[in-house]
Order: sequence, then structure tokens, then C-alpha cells
Amino acid sequence: KNDSRGTFSFFESGMDARAQARRKIEIDLRSAIQDDQLRPFYQPLIDLKTGRITGCEALVRWPHAERGMISPADFIPVAEDTGLINALGTQILRRACNEAARWPDEVRVAVNLSPLQFRVGNLLSVVMDALKHSGLPPRRLELEITETLLLEKSNQVLATLHALRALGVRISMDDFGTGYSSLSYLRSFPFDKIKIDQSFVRDLGSNRDAQAIVRSIISLGMGLGVTITAEGVETESELACLRSEGCHEGQGFLFSRARPNEEIIELLRAQAIAAPDAELSVRAQV
Ligand code: C2E
Ligand code: MG
Ligand code: MG
Ligand code: MG
Repeated sequence: KNDSRGTFSFFESGMDARAQARRKIEIDLRSAIQDDQLRPFYQPLIDLKTGRITGCEALVRWPHAERGMISPADFIPVAEDTGLINALGTQILRRACNEAARWPDEVRVAVNLSPLQFRVGNLLSVVMDALKHSGLPPRRLELEITETLLLEKSNQVLATLHALRALGVRISMDDFGTGYSSLSYLRSFPFDKIKIDQSFVRDLGSNRDAQAIVRSIISLGMGLGVTITAEGVETESELACLRSEGCHEGQGFLFSRARPNEEIIELLRAQAIAAPDAELSVRAQV
């Protein structure tokens, strides 16, 4: 009896500690958003034919006074549970549009959206405001959504996606293959790009199942007439395989990690002065 009680109270205090840690993140995150401390880093997307940067994905970073740089995996879930994701998402979107407006005109910026941002009901005007305020042309903005958004089968979501596309904004399906959307259902959704989840790209060189899955996602994407981007490209053999399958774009540590805007501007400047057909080497490890 003592033993089980001991186990029980250990479990309880364990839960407490975790709940407390989340509560602390929530409090700190709230003030970080208020003080405008969150910022996007940018990870290049590479055209696999030309080797050039076609765009960059904004990935939120939180420089925390005590804990250093906190990873989105540790605070995005808290932000979603507490509703803070709306303020966070709006800040990152605005900042990404403002910064990207100063990049060369052919380079796009991709911004991640949480399903919750669709539920609030003002997403369209938030996006229009960010575009208007920054002067970024809509065709240079890509919004990344996940299959979980489609699972809601909501007419409001569908209407918002159509309205965003009518503005000229592009829609990308992030982490593709990890959700549960049926292929026929996918057809009714307007989108421009599929991002193959990094779990399938991993081991591409050695694993035949991964190869088969990637090949079928690519042919699905081609059939739908959308751009196909592979996430999490880390090795030359993965890259070779993706190229031979006809994948359009790649993103991953092989090319570059997410970097601060100043570094991205340097990369884009180097690309702009290189010959138009020169393959830019972004494979500098940072
Ligand atoms: P995601 O949108 O799928 O972004 C790709 C993640 O993979 C990023 O992690 C990126 O740093 C990481 N990554 C890129 N290349 C490689 C690679 O070669 N190998 C490996 N192992 N990882 C790679 P990050 O920055 O930690 O972001 C994690 C997730 O957090 C994102 O996944 C996205 O779902 C979410 N997130 C990030 N920023 C935002 C944001 O502003 N708003 C929302 N709603 N979610 C965000
Ligand atoms: Mg993404
Ligand atoms: Mg992804
Ligand atoms: Mg992901």
C-alpha cells in the first residue's frame, strides 16, 4: 500500500512540475509577445534544377533571457493551447512580410499558419493588412497549412482559403503525408504546393519504402499541377534521389539552416550578382 501510494504521489508531483513548466512558458511567452521579442529566422527553399533560392520559410525563434533560444516545438503547443498563437502568428506574419518586402522581387516568403488562426475569423483581414502595410506583392507570400486544418471539413476554412488565393497568395500543404486527409478530399481544396514531410525524405538513399512513398507523392503533386518541395534534405544522396524523381524544390540542413534576416539578405545579394544560370552554393554550414 505504501508503495502504491508512493508511486501515486510521485506521479502527481511529476504532473505538477510539467503543468508548472507549461504555465511558466505561457507567462514568459505572453510577455515575449507583448515586448515583441519573437522573430522569424528564414530557411531557404532551393530550386533543384537551378540551385537558386526561390523563397524562404519564416520559422519563429524565441531568444529567452534565461534559457537561450527556445525551439518552436517547446512553445507552439503552449501557444495553441492558450490562444496566444493568434497574436504570435500575426506578429510573425507582419514581420516576415516587412522583411521579405526588401528581398529581391522574385524571392517569396513562406509563413506557417495554425488551424486556430482560421477559427478566429479575421485571418483574411490580418493577411491583407500585413500585405498592405509591408507593400509585399501577394504573389510573394506563401501560407503553409497542414492536413489537420482540412480534417475540420469546415466551409469557413474553405472560403478563407479561396479568398486568400483570390488575393494572389499561394497556399502550401506542409508536412504532407503525416495527416489523414483522403486523396479525394484533397481535390476540393485549393492549394499550390505540397511539402513532403521530412520523415519520408530521411533515409531516401537507403530505404526503398521511403523511396516509393516519395515517388508517389511527387506523381500525385504533378498530377494536381502543384509545386513539390521536399523538407529536411540533409544528404547528397537524398538530394540526388529527389532530383532524379523530378522533385521541384528542396529545403534542409544540406542547403542551410534557418538564419537571421541579415544573413539571408547577404545570401540573396550573392545570388543577385551571380550569373543568372550560376548555381549558388548556399551549402555553408552555420
Ligand atoms: P515546419 O513548418 O514543418 O518547419 C520545418 C522544421 O524542420 C523547422 O523546425 C526546421 O528548422 C526543421 N528543419 C529544416 N530542415 C531540416 C533538416 O534538414 N533536418 C531536420 N532534422 N530538421 C530540419 P523548427 O524551426 O523547429 O519549427 C518546427 C515547427 O514549428 C514547424 O515545422 C512549424 O510547424 C512550427 N512553426 C515554426 N514557426 C512557426 C510559426 O511562426 N507559426 C506556426 N503556427 N508554427 C510555426
Ligand atoms: Mg512549415
Ligand atoms: Mg514541415
Ligand atoms: Mg513540421
